[in-house]
Amino acid sequence: MLCDICGSEGVKIRQITRTYGKGKDLLVIENIPVITCTHCGESYLTTETLHKIEQIKTNRKKLAVERPVEVATFGLSIVPKINCCFSYSLTNNLLTSTQQTKGK
Ligand SMILES: [Zn+2]
Repeated sequence: MLCDICGSEGVKIRQITRTYGKGKDLLVIENIPVITCTHCGESYLTTETLHKIEQIKTNRKKLAVERPVEVATFGLSIVPKINCCFSYSLTNNLLTSTQQTKGK
């Protein structure tokens, strides 16, 4: 299979879960094939996949199965402003220093 973007070989297909809409209209679609190119690093959905997603969204009453889902909201106050690796090590340092204080 060739990459649509750069035309090279070496694309991989991953399956992802995506959510559409929110609140009561939330729709979760599982196993959406995403094409990832190892050459240019691009990830994209094929037109066919996008079309299928539109179909699922239109026919959700027929196609979707109701399942209880746990929904968590990621609080705005803790959205990382710096890159995640840095925040992670920062949290780690804080944890370490808390443990040290407790130890004394
Ligand atoms: Zn590519």
